[in-house]
Amino acid sequence: MTTKDLDKAYIAGTYARQDVAFIKGSGAELFDEDGKRYIDLGGGIAVNSFGVADEDWTEAVIAQVRALQHVSNYYYTEPQSKLAQLLCERTGMKKVFFANSGAEANECAIKAARKYASDKYGSARPNMVTLWNSFHGRTLTTLSATGQESFHKDFGPFTPGFVHVKANDIRDMQAALDKNDVCAVMMELIQGEGGVFVMDKAYVSEVAALCKSRDILLIIDEVQTGNGRTGTLYAFEQFGIHPDIVTTAKGLAGGLPIGATLFSEKTENVLTPGTHGSTFGGNPVSCAGALSILSRLNEKLLEEVREKGEYIVSELAGAQGVRSISGMGLMLGVATDKPARDIVTGCLQRGVIVLTAKDKVRLLPPLTIPFSLLKEAIAILKEEIAK
Ligand SMILES: *Cc1c(COP(=O)(O)O)cnc(C)c1O
Repeated sequence: MTTKDLDKAYIAGTYARQDVAFIKGSGAELFDEDGKRYIDLGGGIAVNSFGVADEDWTEAVIAQVRALQHVSNYYYTEPQSKLAQLLCERTGMKKVFFANSGAEANECAIKAARKYASDKYGSARPNMVTLWNSFHGRTLTTLSATGQESFHKDFGPFTPGFVHVKANDIRDMQAALDKNDVCAVMMELIQGEGGVFVMDKAYVSEVAALCKSRDILLIIDEVQTGNGRTGTLYAFEQFGIHPDIVTTAKGLAGGLPIGATLFSEKTENVLTPGTHGSTFGGNPVSCAGALSILSRLNEKLLEEVREKGEYIVSELAGAQGVRSISGMGLMLGVATDKPARDIVTGCLQRGVIVLTAKDKVRLLPPLTIPFSLLKEAIAILKEEIAK
């Protein structure tokens, strides 16, 4: 049986997969089982920050696998300690909890927010405000936080305590916070799965000010926007805010499973021994991969991310069949006349990988994609959009 046949026979049917099986890659190029080459503008959904088989990353990961792949969190390991130090030094946050995915990073943030409020206000602040059209994960509690009904169908009852408000509507937020029963607000600064929808800067700073004045925690979900994706190390830097908790995952370890919940000086001591944990969290191999990525995500690379983003926008803005472009850095959404699905299929046939987000074409290429490959891929994308 072929890989595709085996998948259809034995893998739970949760994915509507594209008709391609990849076997290897190099940088921003991928190769399928027939040897066909593709330029990758999807990055495994913003995960392969430095593309496939980046040399420094591969060496760091292999060296760690040979030395020690796992010991559990009963003990200290150097990659985990060093990664936490680097994350804090680069963000101004104070402490880190490591998990294995974005949903888990958010679960930790939700638990910490509830405990912060419980420690200070007893049972008076059980609720958390999130935005309509948000995406925070697939566990039942992060689904409850997610403000999209399409993800909720068939899975109730949900974790209580989540209130959704309209994005970029400060009155709706104010009304929700006026009930005085809210421990935290959680939001993405660019709603990724929701269609690459960027929050207004004025709205974000007003929300931050409201939260601060009422001792409500502000949690920023940077699972997708983090780790250089938007042209700064974290997107919150571009919004002039200092969140109480930041969560991240996707691109942090360059292709290995990791999740991280970052705590500020206000929240760093909320979680105490026994209140939270993870068997695999902070796994030394994932952390060694993340150290390789994070230590090279310097200002020069971030500048390149911004330049490449600007190049894509300049190529596609006003092009035939393009309605609008949203996003920041190398996290872009393109609204098109043609259905996005058809563009994905057309590009794939021609050896270019693009994604969708709601009804948009979504681009999340490796941050290190060379300009030559980017130009080649965007030219094809442009033709497929115009067709
Ligand atoms: C992908 C994503 C998640 C969920 O991450 P998983 O690793 O799939 O659990 C949560 N929040 C945002 C903003 C995401 O983009």
